[in-house]
Amino acid sequence: MTRLTVLAGPTAVGKGTVSAYIREHFPQVWFSVSATTRPPRPGEVDGVHYHFLSDAEFDELIASGSLLEYAVVHGRHRYGTPRAAVEAEIARGGSPLLEIDLQGARQVREAMPEALFVFLAPPSWEELVRRLVGRGTETQEERERRLASAKIELAAESEFDRTVVNTEVGAAAGEIVGLMGLNTDEMENL
Ligand code: 5GP
Repeated sequence: MTRLTVLAGPTAVGKGTVSAYIREHFPQVWFSVSATTRPPRPGEVDGVHYHFLSDAEFDELIASGSLLEYAVVHGRHRYGTPRAAVEAEIARGGSPLLEIDLQGARQVREAMPEALFVFLAPPSWEELVRRLVGRGTETQEERERRLASAKIELAAESEFDRTVVNTEVGAAAGEIVGLMGLNTDEMENL
């Protein structure tokens, strides 16, 4: 049975790294390509990593009901999941995965409560703090702001169906793929 899987978690928990690992090692997982108003970073390809849109184009997607969810992330740019592609993947019997922020995950839960919601958690609070403030380049105020949001984000765990602890990237990725009901033998998938 095809089920949409939503992966979310606190900032700096390593969602991006775990997603990249899944992309590379488990090609049977289908990743939604989000729309965003953020400008591309070097190496990012339009239509592959994101659909890079202007504010007006993003407004149009909202107005036409084309987004399954959308949110302003880190108080800056807008990100959203194009609905049609996800629905097509579900209809096709594939294995769609959304890697989105917590606000977006809550919206998907309203729209598709039957989806599987996976929370990626840090091994400990101390480790999350290390990952969050790792470079030590931020001001004391910025550091406190990040830690305060991390506390709030961690409290969202109870809203999720399952928790995967990101102690080691490959193990966490395998666990998520297993929860999706897919074969987790990496060699067989290559
Ligand atoms: P980045 O700008 O570093 O690629 O992504 C920043 C954050 O945006 C990540 O935490 C990611 O989970 C979130 N994000 C990416 N795409 C979407 C989306 O379609 N919807 C929502 N709500 N968040 C997204």
